[in-house]
Amino acid sequence: MHSFADKARRVERIRQILRHRYGAAPAVTVTHPVEHALRAILAEEAAAKEADEGLERLRRHFVDLNDLRVSRPREIRDVLGQNFPRSAHKARVMPRMLDQVFKRHNTMIWDFLEDMGKVQARAYFEKLEDVRPFVAATLVRDCLGAHAFPVDTDIIRVLGRLGIVDPAKESEPKVQAFLERAVKADRAYEMHWLLKRLAEDVCIVGTPLCPKCSLNKMCSSAVFPSEGKGRKGKAGVKAAAKAVVKAVVKKEAKPKASAPKKSAPKVPAPKASAPKPAAPKKKKAKAHARKKGR
Ligand code: SF4
Repeated sequence: MHSFADKARRVERIRQILRHRYGAAPAVTVTHPVEHALRAILAEEAAAKEADEGLERLRRHFVDLNDLRVSRPREIRDVLGQNFPRSAHKARVMPRMLDQVFKRHNTMIWDFLEDMGKVQARAYFEKLEDVRPFVAATLVRDCLGAHAFPVDTDIIRVLGRLGIVDPAKESEPKVQAFLERAVKADRAYEMHWLLKRLAEDVCIVGTPLCPKCSLNKMCSSAVFPSEGKGRKGKAGVKAAAKAVVKAVVKKEAKPKASAPKKSAPKVPAPKASAPKPAAPKKKKAKAHARKKGR
């Protein structure tokens, strides 16, 4: 079990590595708070480009945001496309969010945000039914400059694989509270952007692309296709490759070692017959000695 301080240090290390890998986060610009909230919903488990394209499709298809508000989820899902990540869920949540705000404030531009404090605005959006806390966090961070760390399934998935949080035990609000404490306010936006970038680039839904990930040496979930789950980093790959080479060399060496043994019985045969020719030499020597003695 890692302490809070240990986890916070790991999070900062992750930020540094990802910053080196992906560069600086682009500046955030909010031209329309409602569209900003819609895009935050569309961006869950989707690439940034997909989210932008999804928002553009909604803009083109529906007359205005009020038209989107009163549209049926099935129609919205069809506009997004069947293959759009979590399209059914998003098609249900977006009009639901718009409708609740409209019924309370009779507006589709959310200008009431300007009169709200950061805490009040966050609490307001967190109380909306079916709207998850990351939407409120995104709005107050980007529209009101609050310190907030939006946590959707992408952030949970990445930090879960990295062993920073436990997705089975920790809820989105709990992870959000942890990150808002662990990451400094002036780094929160960048860290969030970097983790989302990692989530769409290599730590994707399904099988992650660990060999291409800059964090694979420090990730307990790193998977390499040739090794199976749990082997860490490129060092593990090299070690496995060396082991394979050693095994091959050993296998090849075995037949060479046994070769002399097979031919061994043939070698002594001529040696055994060698003393026989020597015997006549001894006899000749004895005969010569006898002749001398005479
Ligand atoms: S090593 Fe793999 S599982 Fe770990 S963060 Fe990178 S892509 Fe995700």
